[in-house]
Amino acid sequence: MEPFAYLKAKDAAQAVTDGAKEGTSFLAGGTLLIDLMRLEVMKPASVVDITGLPRTIEDAPNGGLRIGALVLNADVAYHERVQKPYAVLSEALLAGASPQVRNLATTGGNLLQRTRCPYFRDPHVAQCNKRVPGSGCAAFGGYTRSHAVLGVSDKCIATHPSDQNVALVALDATVHVTGPKGERDIPIDDLHAVPGETPQREHVLAPGELIVQVDLPKPRGKSHYLKVRDRASFAFALASAAVVVEVTNGQIAYARIGLGGIATKPWHAREAEGVLVGQKPALATFRKAADAALAGAKAEEGNRFKIDLAKRTLVRALSEVTGGKR
Ligand code: SF4
Repeated sequence: MEPFAYLKAKDAAQAVTDGAKEGTSFLAGGTLLIDLMRLEVMKPASVVDITGLPRTIEDAPNGGLRIGALVLNADVAYHERVQKPYAVLSEALLAGASPQVRNLATTGGNLLQRTRCPYFRDPHVAQCNKRVPGSGCAAFGGYTRSHAVLGVSDKCIATHPSDQNVALVALDATVHVTGPKGERDIPIDDLHAVPGETPQREHVLAPGELIVQVDLPKPRGKSHYLKVRDRASFAFALASAAVVVEVTNGQIAYARIGLGGIATKPWHAREAEGVLVGQKPALATFRKAADAALAGAKAEEGNRFKIDLAKRTLVRALSEVTGGKR
């Protein structure tokens, strides 16, 4: 690990001032940053420790729930205001990482989780547009089993790894940030970027912008997170589905769907939602929704299986949340 300066912020204002300097990273739980610094994938000139900032879960002005950026993943997952009303979020967090990691990782850090593409995490691999812009992409023609089929470009097909963020998409969360130019709210759909021509740009935050909290709207209907992976714990999703469904008078009145493990950002499956709303909950409808969700998929040889796997995952998640047959 290369030498770096260490600063401890006493409040958000100081964190923003210190964090705006070039080559600075914020340090929260450290489960990602320290990992990537040890691998010499990230080499910040200075690190601003924000672990002293408040860690609160409280009522949001919109009638929903406000989760502070420093709240630990475990504390969110087991919070009584989350477990049932926002089951999809609790289930997603408990499906991620390990108990040890969840006791360190924070809401804000998880929002900015970086890809597990093995070529990105190995500085000895020369070709990685995300790590070294313009260098190429070793995944094309290489290992692609864990890679994305939605939101891809010819520059990068790395999968966004977070479970939490897929649930936040289904919950229509809003991310509140503060920075050198003031405060702003970012809908979760707009926080993360698809790679396009600039895979190194993973989100819309400017240098020094700090995530302060996440607001969830009032809970609606029933929700559920289903994750399919190679082993039952401490594994990233091959495919996952976060679903929020409200059924009124036998018809689906409201649906929100996030997909994970298959896309370059936490994926909002709007086309699938359009298929569901106004229909009776039924297997045939769920299958049509899943087809719509994956209609734009673009696969490589190694990850082609994910298209069918993601469809099956979504169909099962919808069946389970509506109490129907699998
Ligand atoms: Fe790098 Fe993206 Fe290619 Fe992986 S898929 S090697 S992260 S450019």
